[in-house]
Amino acid sequence: MKTLKVGCTGPMVEFLQNILQKLGYYNGKIDGIYGKNTYNAVLFFQRNFRLIPDGIVGNNTWNSLSPYINGALGFIVPTNISYSSSILEINLNSLKRLYPFIEIGSIGKSVLGKNIPYIKIGRGEKEIFYSASYHANEWITSVVLMKFLEDYCYTYKNNLTIFNYSARQIFETTTIYIVPMVNPDGVDLVTGDFAKNSDIYNYAKQISNYYPQIPFTSGWKANIRGVDLNLQFPAGWQMAKSIKYSQGYIRPAPRDFVGFGPLTEPESLAVYNFTLQHNFRLILAYHSQGKTIYWQYQNYNPKDSLEIGEQFSYVSGYTLEETPYNSSFAGYKDWFIQNYNRPGYTIEVGDGENPLPISQFNEIYNDNIGILTLGSIL
Ligand SMILES: [Zn+2]
Repeated sequence: MKTLKVGCTGPMVEFLQNILQKLGYYNGKIDGIYGKNTYNAVLFFQRNFRLIPDGIVGNNTWNSLSPYINGALGFIVPTNISYSSSILEINLNSLKRLYPFIEIGSIGKSVLGKNIPYIKIGRGEKEIFYSASYHANEWITSVVLMKFLEDYCYTYKNNLTIFNYSARQIFETTTIYIVPMVNPDGVDLVTGDFAKNSDIYNYAKQISNYYPQIPFTSGWKANIRGVDLNLQFPAGWQMAKSIKYSQGYIRPAPRDFVGFGPLTEPESLAVYNFTLQHNFRLILAYHSQGKTIYWQYQNYNPKDSLEIGEQFSYVSGYTLEETPYNSSFAGYKDWFIQNYNRPGYTIEVGDGENPLPISQFNEIYNDNIGILTLGSIL
């Protein structure tokens, strides 16, 4: 675990503040800034745990905190803080320890060499696939899938129901694959995991300078080298290119640049290859722009696709819509439908400008628990 001390900022500091707050050591704001309040809380904790009180969170302090990271405070996945790739990794280790029946692996690596983890849960013949955070500033979707994973693990272990369905029955009939964060580098940029003026931050800033109308970093959707990972798939990629070029996205950009060819980016390629290695009956790709479900690609009409979409719409309250023409090419669900002629959906959660505030999380999760459960049954 990364050493934290005064002057550090970002999601890992939020992660620390959140735990110290739950334990009663910290009563400041969860702001991701390691200042005086956080320092005092760490000192207080270190004294109580007979650690050297230096106000620095290194190996020994992290070790003393580990029971609380691993579930002693209740649930593992935090749903009230920024969610970076490091927190994802920590949560996956904790979940695997508590729920050894899940399998965790990697579908590939990001541009910066970070793992893109997958989780496999269940032993059913039917395979389905949920993925999220193609777009950096839509990282709240990673929390949705991780919370669902934890709830499903918990209900399976304790023989309970999830959205009124028996978790054990789902487990026997369906194998769910989850890739909660397709774009870890981009998410880490938007959540502030890269310090301001670090090399990577400055590199992204240079790309952003060509698009001054897009706020930096909050408007960043792309991977770290400025390619939109959901405009990379070989399903009308040339169409996507001409549409986006005509809108001015002709070079690496914080959003909407299709790349110099399909599947040039390791993150999109990893999702593509992972899909080819499986036999997914249905896929959900999570985004966050407006309580909408997109279910079509061109004139393809996969069996059951409309009916399932209508049920998703019913349990979530989201509207089932035709994709607007200008964003109807080269997305993951577009390629999935084209290649397999099976049900594939883009789920757009939440309301407002990205990144959506994490305070919307509970509402978003409640809207989506039905979709995520039914997706494994229908
Ligand atoms: Zn998106």
